[in-house]
Amino acid sequence: MTSTGRSPTTVTIKLENENSLCAIVLDPHAPEHLKRQVQGSLEKECRDVFSVEYPEKIVVAKNISDTEKISQIQGVKKVISTTKKYILVSREFKDEKTVVDVGNVEIGRSPVVIAGPCSVETEEQLMETAKEVKREGAAVLRGGAFKPRTSPYSFQGLGEVGLKLLAKTRDETGLPIVTEVMDTRNVELVERYADMLQVGARNMQNFPLLKELGRQSKPVLLKRSMNATIEDLLFAAEYIISHGNPHVVLCERGIRTFERATRNTLDISAVPILNELTHLPVITDPSHATEKRSAIIPMTKAAIAAGADGVMVEVHTCPSDALCDGGQSLRPGQFAEMMRHLRKMEEMRCVE
Ligand code: PEP
Ligand code: MN
Repeated sequence: MTSTGRSPTTVTIKLENENSLCAIVLDPHAPEHLKRQVQGSLEKECRDVFSVEYPEKIVVAKNISDTEKISQIQGVKKVISTTKKYILVSREFKDEKTVVDVGNVEIGRSPVVIAGPCSVETEEQLMETAKEVKREGAAVLRGGAFKPRTSPYSFQGLGEVGLKLLAKTRDETGLPIVTEVMDTRNVELVERYADMLQVGARNMQNFPLLKELGRQSKPVLLKRSMNATIEDLLFAAEYIISHGNPHVVLCERGIRTFERATRNTLDISAVPILNELTHLPVITDPSHATEKRSAIIPMTKAAIAAGADGVMVEVHTCPSDALCDGGQSLRPGQFAEMMRHLRKMEEMRCVE
């Protein structure tokens, strides 16, 4: 509801509804002093009030029962409330799908393929892989410079040297790059080189890292932890957005189950469920989910059929020489085959 001349400028807020969250969207055309006043009165009355620009100024508050009254305060454009414990990522807050720009690529419209090696190893390896995947239609290049390895004795990545190689490869191929950041101390460094910052499965609930990424402007690829529920993933995304960065893409990368035939179980049903619950784009990573080269193409097709906005797959020019995850990496020829399958699915969609 838009404010009128006779609306009140302050309000006494009743804090009764224990299980509600409200996003109070301030009128972008209201004078600054009025917006500050509304924000001030909410901060005075409620605990844990959050203010975020999204792109209008929004105040998120808990446990408010008289939302109708708040929506009539001068300077308030509308109030959205939910009984869920997250709001900014929800479809209640925003019904239309968010489109996230990664360099010149849009994620959230038609399916996008992100491909590249698990880790940046050498300039030749990266450049050759990038050119192969680009030729077949990949839109974004992946490659780890800081690697989250289970064993401290495994290859940990090239660090800044790897970031420089990624940037050089982007400059030569035009492919935007996504790479992982594991530590708040490296956010600034990784942001200097990358077009998109990846939060790995193991860091999905590294809250200081999520908050720090919330203060950045580059898009974030947030991977679901192997131990997290769909709701946990949405909370993690809410952390980033509530700290100021709305450019988040979610990635389903397999969860831990009793099944040992694959490393993790790709939770395909998470795709339609997430599409119902959130406006954020959703992609899947069949490489880390299955750790099985032979499963990548079928799982990629399944993800796109289930409504994913894209996939991320690992490709290596010589998987047997890979320093990390060779067994799940597609050879360039197999990647080309995967892309042929996706194009066929796209054509099928056109003749529906
Ligand atoms: C990766 O994408 O490089 C990776 C390590 O994946 P995950 O965090 O999903 O295990
Ligand atoms: Mn990997």
